Amino acid sequence: MNDYYAVLDVPRDADEAAIKKAYRKLAMRYHPDRNGGEKEAEARFKEVTEAYEVLRDPEKRRIYDRYGEAGLRGRAGRAQGFHPFDLSEALNVFMRDFGGFAGFEELFGGGRRATAAERRGNDLRAAVALALTDVAGGARKTLRYKVLVPCETCGGSGAKAGTRPTGCGQCGGTGQVRRAQRSVFGQFVSVSPCPACGGEGRVIAETCAICRGDGRTRIDRTVNVDVPPGVSSENYITLRGQGHAGPRGGPAGDLVVMLEVEDDPRFVRHGDDLAYELPISFSQAALGVEVTVPTPYGDERLKVSPGTQSDSILRLKGRGLPHLGSASKGDLHVRISVWTPERLTPESERLFRELALHEGEPPAGGAGRSFWNRMKEALGA
Ligand SMILES: [Zn+2]
Ligand SMILES: [Zn+2]
Repeated sequence: MNDYYAVLDVPRDADEAAIKKAYRKLAMRYHPDRNGGEKEAEARFKEVTEAYEVLRDPEKRRIYDRYGEAGLRGRAGRAQGFHPFDLSEALNVFMRDFGGFAGFEELFGGGRRATAAERRGNDLRAAVALALTDVAGGARKTLRYKVLVPCETCGGSGAKAGTRPTGCGQCGGTGQVRRAQRSVFGQFVSVSPCPACGGEGRVIAETCAICRGDGRTRIDRTVNVDVPPGVSSENYITLRGQGHAGPRGGPAGDLVVMLEVEDDPRFVRHGDDLAYELPISFSQAALGVEVTVPTPYGDERLKVSPGTQSDSILRLKGRGLPHLGSASKGDLHVRISVWTPERLTPESERLFRELALHEGEPPAGGAGRSFWNRMKEALGA
């Protein structure tokens, strides 16, 4: 004995809109097209549809509320055959209230052919590797890939050279067959792809010898991909119509180019900003020095002023990465790291000992802000 309210997870006083909403949600979740024909989902789909079909109808709902499922069975009588829904009945209910094939396809984002219209070719995926300098300046990358294109011999029709596909006699060229079905809940019209033409509305008497009726052949294609400055590995570029051609004249799918920005060992990236670590010696930190630092746009000279502390951050404005889709650029943050010599020659040791007599005391230590906090601040994170 099913509790239809529990099946749809609605209260007993739910109104029609609430029932419809609850059903739609569950039907979408358990729809066979979404679950690859998995049996358990199919059973759930039938179950929620049956519950919906009773509760949405005020008369059936009244009887159900009063006498339960048995009441419905009694009312309908054995002659009319009240029985649990089979799958095609359940699919019909769903389609009747939530759109036919076209609306249906939209609902699930494709996957099922809409009408007799030509089938679109599959999308393709490709990946391009990008260096950080490509991100900085933008890049043109060349991709080679194998792709299905319309067959030259038959012009994509799939029919033998000199012949043409003809309209399907069984469906009259619509690609669909309609079938009226009776059930206890009334008459439904089921619409399904025509078995004779596979839903295409056309049939081929003799197939093309080259593509064997598919209308497509495989070629190597080369395309150029223009990668704009400022991209990251989360971005991708869609080249419309560069995917596989559809069978027998169907429109081509897309080529989706995934971008893979390779790590640059010199820099750490934070969005548009870059960080670079610059080691300098004690004497350079004390006396100041002019050094060369790498940027994605080439090397640059950087002045480190006398008395620079370790972990100081110097900013090279506008030497970070471009902001995708705008002219602005991030900054390059150069972190100074004062290098302590690990081995001293007798001469350098003598000099350090002499220096020690002259250098002042370092300031008192304490709970200073950590480097990472300052780094975050500098990077605006
Ligand atoms: Zn062909
Ligand atoms: Zn047909």
